[in-house]
Amino acid sequence: MSNAAAFSGGYVANLGPSEEGYLMPAVDEEGGFFWEGTLAGELRIQACNSCGKLRHPPRPMCPSCRSTDRGWKQVTGKGTIWSFVVPHPPLLEPYSSLAPYNVIVVTLDEHPTIRFVGNLVSGPEGELNEIDPNSIRIGEPVEVVFKRFRRADGSEEALPFWVRA
Ligand SMILES: [Zn+2]
Repeated sequence: MSNAAAFSGGYVANLGPSEEGYLMPAVDEEGGFFWEGTLAGELRIQACNSCGKLRHPPRPMCPSCRSTDRGWKQVTGKGTIWSFVVPHPPLLEPYSSLAPYNVIVVTLDEHPTIRFVGNLVSGPEGELNEIDPNSIRIGEPVEVVFKRFRRADGSEEALPFWVRA
């Protein structure tokens, strides 16, 4: 099943975890453009068609001008580590066996009010726990990469991760 087919009916679909048991996004009509973008290797941010402001995560109404006329804009995926934490068990399986690992908050350089929560890895095939959390510094430049996962139903998702720029 393609992702486009999954959310074209206006309902939330693809709720299953990846084959490895990792949590996967609930791809719905509102955020479908975002997940189509990650599969295409693009970071797409929702944009207001009325006032032009960007917002993330995707939602129906612009918090600035209350317009519901919306589209999206592709951004470069260059950002800066704004903060980070190091989770320790108890955690959901399969994450507990990977702890300690990093969870970073990234601000986009082009739009610093847009923040992503993700993981710093060495590349698109990187594991959550491969970067020593003690080496991470707030303010480090990073850029997005996309790591692909397959769900049990065979559908594929690509999730944004971050590497040092
Ligand atoms: Zn607006």
